[in-house]
Amino acid sequence: MSSIGDELHRFAAELYPICRSITGDGIRRTLKAIQRHIPLQFSEVPTGTTVFDWTVPKEWNIRDAYIKDGSGRRVVDFRENNLHVLNYSVPIHATMSLSEIRPHLFTIPEHPDWIPYRTSYYKEDWGFCLSHNQLTAMADGSYEVCIDSTLADGNLTYGEYFLPGGSSDEILISCHACHPSLANDNLSGLTVATALARELTERANRNYSYRFLFLPGTIGSITWLARNREAASRIRHGLVLTCIGNQAAFHYKKSRRGDAEIDRAVAHVLSHLTDAAEILEFSPYGYDERQYCSPGFNLAVGCLMRSVWGTFPEYHTSADNLNFIKPQCLAESLRVCAAALEVLENNKRYRNLNPFCEPQLGRRGLYRPTGGDSIAGEINARLWVLNLSDGEHSLLDIAQRARLPFSAILEAANLLQANGLLELVAPETRAEEDLPTNALKRNTAPNF
Ligand SMILES: [Zn+2]
Repeated sequence: MSSIGDELHRFAAELYPICRSITGDGIRRTLKAIQRHIPLQFSEVPTGTTVFDWTVPKEWNIRDAYIKDGSGRRVVDFRENNLHVLNYSVPIHATMSLSEIRPHLFTIPEHPDWIPYRTSYYKEDWGFCLSHNQLTAMADGSYEVCIDSTLADGNLTYGEYFLPGGSSDEILISCHACHPSLANDNLSGLTVATALARELTERANRNYSYRFLFLPGTIGSITWLARNREAASRIRHGLVLTCIGNQAAFHYKKSRRGDAEIDRAVAHVLSHLTDAAEILEFSPYGYDERQYCSPGFNLAVGCLMRSVWGTFPEYHTSADNLNFIKPQCLAESLRVCAAALEVLENNKRYRNLNPFCEPQLGRRGLYRPTGGDSIAGEINARLWVLNLSDGEHSLLDIAQRARLPFSAILEAANLLQANGLLELVAPETRAEEDLPTNALKRNTAPNF
């Protein structure tokens, strides 16, 4: 039997060859592949649609592209690697000298074997990306340059999976699905999000509803937010998943709020499940958390990564390939996400029904059978839960203060409740400041 990590890596390998972009058949094929695992709904938004300050662009599709030398040999060939074409290149078919082509060629001289990934979404242009070694091997002379692409009115496509739970409050999981043959950024996010959706579907009880979005980066989340302001107002917590397949320590970028429950939940889980994780403050650059955390929405959405975009040499190059992501890393990322959601699902407040001095746990079989120097971890967890369950502290507050894993605190709370020592505090009585404070809810949003 193969492990979940192997399964995730195989799925990444299936998606890897597809030439994705922010629109077109590449992203549709990718979403269809995800649809075989979860019942994804497709949305098609026509070119020219206004989405806040942006406009849905023309749809791009590509069949072939190459540079042929005088002998007719393809010296740069899209069929070998789809990174070879400047993503969103307009069509061209011409014979040109190397010096005429040169301004349209992109290489990485410091990594002469690697092909860079470049895009030109919002400026009509054409170009080729190639290894520096390929470029230096190109002699002066004339070349046939061909990009068999179309850039025309069409649609922007995104995929969405809504999974209802006990409450209409939602948890958002979002990842971009627009990069061509790049594995960590962001096939790792797509595959882990798909597996997470499948796991949650099989879960018997969900307190929250879940919304999974697979979108083209930036324009996709802007489009979704423009068309779903009502649903956006129900998002209580969210995670953007990206670059979570390589062998690097985890990095979690906090939401704009900085102290949201998702921020605390992920930091807690990382501190107990992984080594050397780093928590990063919010910044207005990065992935789609930029849109979810724009001031009009200010959603509690953070971004989970291993390597941070732009900081690892393989980023946006052909070296971000299937060897760069590892089955065990994908599996661990899935575990971290599932554990963080488990915290959110169970982060309740309780009231100690015996608050005047400690209840006698031994009488109830909840203490150690004989006296000694130390107490076992599970008894320590029970004492913390009893002490801090005053209706104000959540189980996550208690886990953090006790420096114990959330799962140990949850287990203690369940046991104490079953023994009549704790009662659940109804969520309605929770303090107002815990509720989302986004501008939509307060109805102070500008007329956008
Ligand atoms: Zn990227």
